[in-house]
Amino acid sequence: MIETRAGTLHRQAMVLLSHDHLWEPTDFAAAVTGGVTAHVVMPFVDVEIWGGQEAFDATARREDDHAKRALMAFDRVLAYIEAHPDQTLLVRSIEDLYEAKRSGRGGVILGSEGARLVEGSLELLRGYQRMGLRQVQLNWDFPNRVAACQNDVDTADSGLTEFGRDLIREMNRLGMLVDTSHSSHRTRLEVFEHSDRPVTHGHAGAKRITDRPQNMTDDELKALAANGGVIGLHFFSRLVNQKGPDAGQAHLEDLYAHIDHIARIAGMETIALGPDWFPFHPFGGWTREQGFTFVETLESIDRLPNLTRGLLEHGYGEADVEAILGGNLLRVLRAVLPAA
Ligand SMILES: [Zn+2]
Repeated sequence: MIETRAGTLHRQAMVLLSHDHLWEPTDFAAAVTGGVTAHVVMPFVDVEIWGGQEAFDATARREDDHAKRALMAFDRVLAYIEAHPDQTLLVRSIEDLYEAKRSGRGGVILGSEGARLVEGSLELLRGYQRMGLRQVQLNWDFPNRVAACQNDVDTADSGLTEFGRDLIREMNRLGMLVDTSHSSHRTRLEVFEHSDRPVTHGHAGAKRITDRPQNMTDDELKALAANGGVIGLHFFSRLVNQKGPDAGQAHLEDLYAHIDHIARIAGMETIALGPDWFPFHPFGGWTREQGFTFVETLESIDRLPNLTRGLLEHGYGEADVEAILGGNLLRVLRAVLPAA
C-alpha cells in the first residue's frame, strides 16, 4: 500500500536537490532512475582537491587563477549535458525546470561550491551567468574575498566583505541563487538579512542534533525561515548521525530527527534535500567506521525513492513529503531564477 502511494507521489512530485556533484555521464541515467527533476550540480570546489596534497595546499592559499579551473570544469559538465539530451538538460529558467519534469529528464542547475571563481569581479560573475551558472555557494572550507567561512569563529568571523555584499546584490539582480553552506555564522546571518531573494543553505543538518560546523544553529534556522529560504538536508552520516559525528553509519531515523527539529524551530516549509553524493576523500584516510558514508538506503541518487517510502512509513503527511522532496525548494527557485 505504502509502496504504491510512495511510487505515485515520488513520480508526480517535483524532486529537487540543492547540492550535488556530477562525476560521470552515467550519473544522468541514475538521476532519472532516482526520479530527480533537477539538482544543483557543483563541478568543482573552491580549491584544487583532486590534484593531490600539494595542489590542494597551493590553491588553498591563493585567491587568483581560479577562473581557468572553473571554466575547464564547467566545460566538462556542459559537454556531458550536450551529449545526453535524452537524459538531461541545463536549467536556466523556471520554464526549463517544468520542461525537465514534463520530459522525464534530470535537469542540471549549474552551481559553484565556493566563490573564488569570481576572482573579485562582477564582470566575471556576469560572464558565468550568461554561460548558464545559476548558483554560487559563497564559501567552501576557506575564507575568500566574499566572506568568512565556517572555520572562522568568534573574533575571526568578519562576515561578508564589501565585495560580498556587492556580489549578493548582483546575484539577486541576475536571478542567481545564493547559498551559505560552509560560510561562517555571521556570514549566514548577514546573507539571510541582506539578500532580497530567498537563499539556500544547501547541504547541512541541525547543529542541535549533530554538532558539526556545517550544520545550522537554531538562531540561524529562524533567520533562514524569515528570509524565506531552505536548508537542504545532507545525507552524509557524519553530519546527521544523532549519536554524534563519529558514531558511524547513519540511518533514516537520523534524518527524521533533523526534519522534526528543523520543523519545530523554523517550520516544515524550510526543509529541502541536499544529499552531496561524492566519491570519497581524494587523499584517502576516511573510513566507514568514522562515518564517512551516506545514510543507509540513500547511498546514491538512484536510491532516492527510498526516502519517499521512508517518510510516508514514518507518518509524515503527503503534503509535507512533497514539500520536502522539492516543493519548498521550488518556491525559492521561483523567487530567484528567470521565469523563462
Ligand atoms: Zn560541501
